[in-house]
Amino acid sequence: MKKRFHRKDVADIMDNAARSYSEIHYDRHMEELRRLHKGAYDYAIDAGPHKWSRVHCPQRRYRLMTTNVVECINLCLKFAWQLPLMTLAEFIRNMLQKWFHDRHTNARSMRHRLTDVAHLVILKRVKKCGYMTVNAVDWNIFSVRHKGKLWTVDLARKTCTCNKFQMDFLPCSHALAAARYMTLSIYRFIVAKRESHCFHCCREWNLDFTSLCADYYKRETLIDAYSVPIMPVGHPSSWVVPFDIAA
Ligand SMILES: [Zn+2]
Ligand SMILES: [Zn+2]
Repeated sequence: MKKRFHRKDVADIMDNAARSYSEIHYDRHMEELRRLHKGAYDYAIDAGPHKWSRVHCPQRRYRLMTTNVVECINLCLKFAWQLPLMTLAEFIRNMLQKWFHDRHTNARSMRHRLTDVAHLVILKRVKKCGYMTVNAVDWNIFSVRHKGKLWTVDLARKTCTCNKFQMDFLPCSHALAAARYMTLSIYRFIVAKRESHCFHCCREWNLDFTSLCADYYKRETLIDAYSVPIMPVGHPSSWVVPFDIAA
């Protein structure tokens, strides 16, 4: 968008619209865009909001898979394209071998049940929930008040009226406030003081709130993704090549 229209303000509004978690916010940003730049607005609508807007995207595409793998690999091979084909193939294989090993090691070194990135997002949200007031509606349903606004969280269905919880598959700050409230009230009834491990994320709360997060955000999933090593192919003289291909 920025390249096409050469306007940072246009690109920023588009970005806000694309990242909106609710139709109301989306509509507000799009109205802003329409008034600012009709051409950009028409272009975005023609392109189809289901392709770029989070609220309209039929799949859970955003946040879960935000890195474009193809572009990333292209960038890494910027200079390698000039190599002869066999050397290039080996270059790519070697690069992947290193990537897999580095990422596997990195994932295994993480100390929390969530990945480091997810853990940081949760920590930030946990800090916010200290300022919220929670009231129980039901065993799983809570109303959460924050800065004059009222949100409804359903911990069993993993939803919140702010939409973040069900769209990211990661609890929003309201859900964390509700989870903490629920845990503390269970805590008061049942459990004596426990040994604390990591205060915010894992074991301190009786309710393991990582159960509110999708598996995508878990350390184990990341480790599994890189668990199969990319093996060296050995020297060409040791390869078994079928007769008709070798000829
Ligand atoms: Zn932890
Ligand atoms: Zn929420």
